[in-house]
Amino acid sequence: MKRKPGRQFFANPGPTNIPDSVLLAVAHYSVDFNDPAFIEIYDQAVAGLKRMLRTEADVFLYTASGHGAWEATLSNLFSPGERLLMLETGYFSEGWSAMARKHGLTVQTVGADWRRGVDFPAVAAALREDREHAVKAVCCVHNETATGVVLPLEEIRGILDDTGHPALLLADTISSLGSMDFRMDEWGIDAVVGGSQKGLMLPTGFSFTGVSAKGLQANAQARLPRHYFDWQQMTERRHRSFMGTVPTTLFYGLHESVRLLEEEGLDRVFARHARLGEAVRRAVRAWSGNDGPQLFCTDPGRVSNSVSAVLMPEGHDAEAIRRTALDRYNVSLGGGLGRLGGTVFRIGHLGDLNEPMVLGTLAAVEMSLRVNNVPHAAGGVDAAMEWLAAA
Ligand code: PLP
Repeated sequence: MKRKPGRQFFANPGPTNIPDSVLLAVAHYSVDFNDPAFIEIYDQAVAGLKRMLRTEADVFLYTASGHGAWEATLSNLFSPGERLLMLETGYFSEGWSAMARKHGLTVQTVGADWRRGVDFPAVAAALREDREHAVKAVCCVHNETATGVVLPLEEIRGILDDTGHPALLLADTISSLGSMDFRMDEWGIDAVVGGSQKGLMLPTGFSFTGVSAKGLQANAQARLPRHYFDWQQMTERRHRSFMGTVPTTLFYGLHESVRLLEEEGLDRVFARHARLGEAVRRAVRAWSGNDGPQLFCTDPGRVSNSVSAVLMPEGHDAEAIRRTALDRYNVSLGGGLGRLGGTVFRIGHLGDLNEPMVLGTLAAVEMSLRVNNVPHAAGGVDAAMEWLAAA
């Protein structure tokens, strides 16, 4: 591939930009994963990951992307035929449902408009109607990466508590961890899945599940087949994870990325994401004049601080914007997923990111709208600058 001059502005919602010091940490020579010097780094990195998850619970790690963590979580917690209540958010809640069905589970969906995610009264009603407690778990995607919509997990915990339903609460924090507030223990999450390549600013390559004591009890009864992902076998290993070779280089990276996140301070990391996310939203709102592109998320209370999905005006192709941004300006945007293909593009604003990087991306998007004769109101970048200069 011919190199384009300058750095590519990478505005995908995962993988994300990898800080130079993390890249250098990952470029580590091979070590025996049982070498005491590595074990020390590994233990510190996993302890750091737990601080990111805000949990004291067990965390099991796998050499797999997020899909592997989904699968590990389902196969360790459930038995054939058991029922899950999936709260619809979009492409990723559908993907998790499809996986559960293939594992022989029954999936009941609380349906939703993808532009805002489930309504809570519908969730409460589904749990109240389940008098026999057939539903074994409520599953939700905290931050739906395909739509830029966030579900407030503490409210879902509240619904489970108010209805007195004993189901486990499962959450996907793949695109929220390290960029938005997430509190496994405080919010009573029984199993949380995450991955390396988003807010943790690492290469793709490992994923994990944090499991509460209640989750571990369910694991002891669960009969779905599993081997590579078996938590009980993992518990017996020194690393309490990984049924095979441990991807050592990623742990030098995790050790460094946790150090960076804690040096900045998690609260400041979240505030930075909120500020940059709002800058992107202000730009999109400005472009939406003259029947231009709109923010896909319609609920201001549920906008994501890690990704914004942008809905194109009728008859205009989101892929053309992505192609122009990449070919002319070397800016990589995310595409529309599943049924949103061609109508939506996504601006990732999570990870190792600052104001000029966001403004550069927004400028490339605004230029791409012009180049492709997409109706819009000019001034998106100005609106973002105004916000960033004042906030
Ligand atoms: N869940 C969410 C919310 C995601 O954003 C993704 C990937 O982007 C996944 C699950 C699947 O993870 P992976 O692509 O790492 O397998």
